[in-house]
Amino acid sequence: MKIAVVKEQAAGERRVAATPETVKKFKALGADVAVEAGAGLTASIADADYAAAGATVGDRAATVAGADIILGVQGPAADSLAGAKPGAWIAAGLNPFGERARVDAYAAAGFEALAMEFMPRITRAQSMDILSSQSNLSGYKAVLDAAAEYGKAFPMMMTAAGTVSAAKAFIMGVGVAGLQAIATARRLGAQVSATDVRAATKEQIESLGAKAIFVEKVAGIEGEGTGGYATEMSDEYKAAQAELVSAHIAKQDIVITTALIPGRPAPRLITDAQIATMKPGSVIVDLAVEQGGNVEGAVAGEVVERHGVKIVGHRNVPSRLATDASALFSRNLYNFLSAFWDKDKNAPVLDEEIGNAIRLTQGGKVVNERLLA
Ligand code: NAD
Repeated sequence: MKIAVVKEQAAGERRVAATPETVKKFKALGADVAVEAGAGLTASIADADYAAAGATVGDRAATVAGADIILGVQGPAADSLAGAKPGAWIAAGLNPFGERARVDAYAAAGFEALAMEFMPRITRAQSMDILSSQSNLSGYKAVLDAAAEYGKAFPMMMTAAGTVSAAKAFIMGVGVAGLQAIATARRLGAQVSATDVRAATKEQIESLGAKAIFVEKVAGIEGEGTGGYATEMSDEYKAAQAELVSAHIAKQDIVITTALIPGRPAPRLITDAQIATMKPGSVIVDLAVEQGGNVEGAVAGEVVERHGVKIVGHRNVPSRLATDASALFSRNLYNFLSAFWDKDKNAPVLDEEIGNAIRLTQGGKVVNERLLA
């Protein structure tokens, strides 16, 4: 059993899919591990550290030659994996909806592609969940990015020269990233409020010491669909939400948006007209910018200014904390493979529930129902 860890090729990707810690653990399971030279450098891991953990380090061709399982943070190009075993697994964040052509290429090349972001949100898979581990870091970093762009302080400070008032921060979308953003903004001393379409988040917001801002008077709102994810809301709800947000947002200094709906473009939460009501110098961070954006005018990969308000649209926010993001991502992959490890076969054997959820391609075909629907 050979596990190959490839160096990421995507622009701006600084993470790596294994660390010396997980290499050691894979070795202890009975696997051989090969790491592409330089794979860890942008996450501050030297080739020598992988070698010391028991991996062989070489070029791409040597790394993937004879591999049974290929690990990546993002999906490697199918044609860069020549020499891997027929039917080899590719386990990575594969962006199946956004990179459909690459999924087809995996099928054509005979790989079994496993999309780690399709991991079901069930208790036993929590430790394998890359969306959670990476979103948590994104929520934290979004607040720091906002603080760095903001020309004022977050906490209230009483000084001999006078008082500095606390920043008001509003978090829109309270999933994993939003919860961490609330906690981080609170730690920095901001007055924090938050909103979501899922009623269950109200208690979570309040338990973190923030104020919950919710649409109350629209009948029949639930907001929660399958797997604990949000659903697309009714037009009546959207209108009520827009009104509520308009009134609240004009008083905010910092807004962090994190709202996503699986398989759909991100919902638009803030319009240009609403931005115009905010105080100059305020900062908005749009964590959904790569999925279409929650904020009108946000540009992926840029910090733009509208009506004196900065709109931060960094791409790939977890990669901005590459060392911790890599450590958690790598553990997710290890936890996944080790949970299914069959000692006799010296290979992982997936069960139906998780296998069917994450497997995109098998036997030369695309097999995942979310892609076939
Ligand atoms: P996500 O990244 O899909 O979306 C972020 C948040 O945006 C969600 O809270 C969503 O409700 C919210 N949102 C969507 N549309 C919105 C709108 N129009 N206005 C305001 N907010 C909007 O969410 P996530 O962080 O992946 O979490 C999704 C769910 O999965 C949560 O219930 C979370 O607790 C759950 N979860 C479960 C597990 C597990 O059990 N293994 C692990 C992680 C998360």
